[in-house]
Amino acid sequence: MMNIAIDGPAGAGKSTIAKLVAKEKGYIYVDTGAMYRSIALYMIRNNVNIEDDAAIKNACDEISIDISYEAGSQQVYLNGENVSVEIRQEQVGNMASKVAAKPVVREKLLQLQRDLAAANNVVMDGRDIGTFVLPNANLKIYLTASVEARANRRYKELVEKGGNPDLEQIKADIEQRDYQDMNRDIAPLKQAEDAVYLDSSNMDINQVVQSIIDKINCL
Ligand code: C5P
Repeated sequence: MMNIAIDGPAGAGKSTIAKLVAKEKGYIYVDTGAMYRSIALYMIRNNVNIEDDAAIKNACDEISIDISYEAGSQQVYLNGENVSVEIRQEQVGNMASKVAAKPVVREKLLQLQRDLAAANNVVMDGRDIGTFVLPNANLKIYLTASVEARANRRYKELVEKGGNPDLEQIKADIEQRDYQDMNRDIAPLKQAEDAVYLDSSNMDINQVVQSIIDKINCL
């Protein structure tokens, strides 16, 4: 099986790029952030105190996450309910970053991620795919961009959706999420030693996609 790992901070364009690469190569795109977001949604809906490890453990025992593909697009199910749209909220992403620091949460998702990669050609994106989930991936990419570039992209996206976002707030959220993801004890975000470093600050989507496809075609 062909396994491509793409890691990097929030807003670097991982999901857009991973989706396009997967489509071009006929692989499936596995969005692991969506899995953490689904667990976060459960915690929010059920008012789980995430400072309480026993409460988190109990919640994890009640949660089942399933992934399926509909018209090529990943759908994530939380206890049988398709939550793919609801998990995109900003608030859910921020909670995901908090619950993702809990070992019991990571443990719960690890096997699901490895099983998907063992059974399919995948482009899998996340924070610890190259360093931990798929240490033997055929190709590892560490995709990043400056905080400014990432905040500006997010800002434009929200404006296009008709919102009235606050650029400074977006920047602050990105910085906080980077800090949390890079400084946690378990599976922190960092570049794998054998990953290819790509800074997309001054590249457009097609350039990044093409550079990854070229690398895959050379494998
Ligand atoms: O990529 P996305 O923003 O959807 O991920 C939400 C959060 O889930 C991240 O900020 C990160 O804390 C966590 N995550 C993780 N490991 C992954 C994917 C996501 O810790 N493989």
